[in-house]
Amino acid sequence: MRLSTDKETTISSLKEAVSAFVQERGWKKFHNPKNLAESICIESSELLELFQWLTDRESETFAKDSAHFDRLSSELADVLIYCLALANATKIDVAGSVLSKLEESAERYPASEYTGRAPRRKDSGRRKA
Ligand SMILES: [Mg+2]
Repeated sequence: MRLSTDKETTISSLKEAVSAFVQERGWKKFHNPKNLAESICIESSELLELFQWLTDRESETFAKDSAHFDRLSSELADVLIYCLALANATKIDVAGSVLSKLEESAERYPASEYTGRAPRRKDSGRRKA
């Protein structure tokens, strides 16, 4: 498989690559929404485990070490692959969903009010999902 970069790869081509991988192995029967959502959580935990017990400062320098960068990249890929598999299984248009969610978040957290500060728990009362 030819490796490419974000700049030259579309989400659609990634979804097709994930679909082809799944098809070639006859794994489509395992790819129901529940299994895929669970797999996203499991892989997210593996990603989070890389940072377990690190301080905030240590986590910021973590990826600067090439061995750590490779592990981080690999775990992030696992999460993204399952996200794309879930999008494939449920016919979710990833670009449309992400852009729509960003638009929703921009309304919920206007830059004029939230620049430089993180939303607090009380702000989440305005949340839909
Ligand atoms: Mg993993």
